[in-house]
Amino acid sequence: MELRFLGGASEVGSLGLVVRDQGRTLLFDYGLTPTDPPTYPRPAPTNVDVAFLSHAHLDHSGMTPLLSRLPKSRLVATPVTVAVADLLTKDALKVARLEGYLPPYSPGDIHALHARVTAVDRHGTFRHRGIEVELTPAGHIPGAAMMLYRGEKDVLFTGDLQTIPTHLVGGAEPLECDVLVMESTYAGREHPDRRETERRFRDKVAETVERGGKAIVPAFAVGRAQEVLMTLAHSGFTTYLDGMARAVDEIYLAAPEYLADARRFRQALEGVHVIEHSSERRHALQDADVIVTTGGMLDGGPVLYYVGELYRDARCSILLTGFQVEGSNGRQLMDEGTLTIDETTVRPAAEVQKYDFSAHAGHSDLVRLAQRTRAKTVVLMHGDHREALRDALAPSCEVVLPANGKPFSL
Ligand SMILES: [Zn+2]
Repeated sequence: MELRFLGGASEVGSLGLVVRDQGRTLLFDYGLTPTDPPTYPRPAPTNVDVAFLSHAHLDHSGMTPLLSRLPKSRLVATPVTVAVADLLTKDALKVARLEGYLPPYSPGDIHALHARVTAVDRHGTFRHRGIEVELTPAGHIPGAAMMLYRGEKDVLFTGDLQTIPTHLVGGAEPLECDVLVMESTYAGREHPDRRETERRFRDKVAETVERGGKAIVPAFAVGRAQEVLMTLAHSGFTTYLDGMARAVDEIYLAAPEYLADARRFRQALEGVHVIEHSSERRHALQDADVIVTTGGMLDGGPVLYYVGELYRDARCSILLTGFQVEGSNGRQLMDEGTLTIDETTVRPAAEVQKYDFSAHAGHSDLVRLAQRTRAKTVVLMHGDHREALRDALAPSCEVVLPANGKPFSL
């Protein structure tokens, strides 16, 4: 059995893993890194038989429309992942147009991919010409699944995973395997207690409102915005939602079995004022206590409108809820206290705070998950400091730290 990463082995982004086994060629995830301009993985081999998509985030799904150009490849994912990935890849084309770079595929490729998709439930098994892959929930975001390939060896590919249940989705349900290919985003790092983080977050919103300000909450459209809305539910704040998260909400509402508690999710959304049109934003500025809006790293989307209107007001706050990648506006805000809006750099008077709502397992959770799978070999991917995890796992199993583009045998 031979494995080769097209990208995403030693960094968080552009993930793609090719597995060759018994004359078959399988692909696990095929993403891009949504920087400006984006970066792409190596090209997928043309003889891919089946591609498996763990979840919809662009660093896992962003290149999948190109599979429609391959002679025979199918794409397997849960129905929720299929729907959200369709939304995100279309949005990636829109962003490419706005930012002025050439996208790697066309709307026609996204459309052509529909005919190649086989949707499989998160507890289901895909069988095709002797290929057998069992899906199992990965936590992380609704629809996310780990993929267990039953070949010469049993290989469990995690995609991104979260072991603790959150408001939105239950924790990962690992299966036993010979080889575990595991994400390592939080290798060497632990998260603060989630409930405590949520309490501090709600307290900060309350403090902002008490001093006469409004809280702007930049949040990623897929998973994070919904988690934040559930955290704010029943807290009595006048809450507005703007951006692509609205479309994601609809997909989640249509697939209640993929949510930890669909009734609570529905109730959380019922109390939220949704911005349907940009003309309603001015009213939101008057009426809202808290505005949850994309983009999560302040690089685009309606968040820039709200921040542009409110950053001078020291009573207001900007509450970051996601990872801020190097080079993003949000990172600049954290590191230098400045923001770039319409090519002008400003220093907000509004208070800036960051909260860890991560959808990834922390270091100790990753170690425990690896132990539960009883894997003899663990391949660490999707992390830029994997050594900490290798050191923790190595006493009990073989640990491989692959490099992008270099094939290795198991
Ligand atoms: Zn993800």
